[in-house]
Amino acid sequence: MAVLTENQPASVRVPEIEKGVGCDFESYLLVPDTSLDARIAAARDLLGERLVILGHHYQRDEVVKFAHFQGDSLKLSQQAAQAKADFIVFCGVHFMAESADILRQPHQQVILPDLNAGCSLADMADITQVEDCWEQLEAVGGLNVIPVTYMNSSAAIKALVGRHDGAICTSSNAAGIFRWAFARGERILFLPDEHLGRNTAYRMGIPLEQMVVWDPYKELGGTTLDKLRGARVILWKGYCSVHQRFLPEHVERVRQQHPGIRVLVHPECRWEVVERADDIGSTEGIRKKVEASPAGSQWAIGTEIHLVNRLAKQNPDKLVISLDPNVCVCTTMFRITPQHLCWALENLVAGQVVNLIRVDEETRRWARVALERMLAIQ
Ligand code: SF4
Repeated sequence: MAVLTENQPASVRVPEIEKGVGCDFESYLLVPDTSLDARIAAARDLLGERLVILGHHYQRDEVVKFAHFQGDSLKLSQQAAQAKADFIVFCGVHFMAESADILRQPHQQVILPDLNAGCSLADMADITQVEDCWEQLEAVGGLNVIPVTYMNSSAAIKALVGRHDGAICTSSNAAGIFRWAFARGERILFLPDEHLGRNTAYRMGIPLEQMVVWDPYKELGGTTLDKLRGARVILWKGYCSVHQRFLPEHVERVRQQHPGIRVLVHPECRWEVVERADDIGSTEGIRKKVEASPAGSQWAIGTEIHLVNRLAKQNPDKLVISLDPNVCVCTTMFRITPQHLCWALENLVAGQVVNLIRVDEETRRWARVALERMLAIQ
């Protein structure tokens, strides 16, 4: 393992290798976060334009401060694909790194500093379960279903959607993608977040009675043929463990404690919460709304705590608090520590690619089809 020293040449040659073994992550574990700052900055400088670090809005401050770009998963993947960099280090979760790999240029390699950084929501839809669901829906016959998957899903599911004439959506364009899908089919299979699907459809005027939940652990998804035939939207039974924590009583309590406060929540929250809120917004939408509001505004935000705390710091003339006083942290994204980032970068300096994320070509091709459909619809 090369250790960065003052004598290290300003530019280092990092060879193209398919898979790095990585060296000795354990030795990084006992190093305090703060003493890693100088090493991370040095590795970042040495790699120069060959490197781009992406930091999701929900990422911890100690890591996100090193990011070249900060944003939501689609925007970050697009920015990385437009960069000259050979190495894309994604400080996010697994499906985000896959998305960056789907969009990357041929010479680029995507790295996830900790492979255990998954997403509880994306993990609730396993490709074999989704294939089984799709076969069952086809076997019913005459349902004319268009599959739509949220960005927060595996590359395999994005590819399945691409193969079956469907599209991907984000939390900010879901309504437009639903309209596109309804123009092509009679009903939508929405994966993997039931709350985003329900909130989107309801706001388009589809009554709750015309939505069914598909539970992959039950026969025929735990529903009936009659209910499927009467449904406009089939909602996969999945949820984000962070956003599902927000409850209607949190809205009532914050309104009592802060009269006049505006409640702004992410559409991954439960329908009962969204309906009580003043507004909904994607991560980017939330950020823009708070920033554009006048001094003195009060906001109770229903999303991951790192974004809420950052908005509070960046908007000291406003009150910005979490809708839930108990910390709502994305524990999987939190797995990416300064130690992981330093380890990944110093390995690159040493010529080794660790934790490479590679989506196989066939999956990548079809996932791109679904993604490009989405981009064409906007
Ligand atoms: S906040 Fe929820 S949806 Fe977003 S990455 Fe974390 S677990 Fe996944």
